[in-house]
Amino acid sequence: MEKVCPVCNEIREIKHICKKCRENMVDKGRTQEYFDDYSADDPINDKGDYCVHVFKCTKCSSIENVNIKKIII
Ligand SMILES: [Zn+2]
Ligand SMILES: [Zn+2]
Repeated sequence: MEKVCPVCNEIREIKHICKKCRENMVDKGRTQEYFDDYSADDPINDKGDYCVHVFKCTKCSSIENVNIKKIII
């Protein structure tokens, strides 16, 4: 058995709604891949059971970090 992020592995799509304007936010990938100031092998955002993704609002472009709970496959 293995713990994987369902979003990274395209098992499940996560819907996230913008707190400001209630529009759909789109997944921009894992936090450390989105922000340049993290090196790729920096484990700072690997919280064990969670994978941290960046979601961006399609309307107001605000950005939120979302903890995606890993599932066991
Ligand atoms: Zn992920
Ligand atoms: Zn918004």
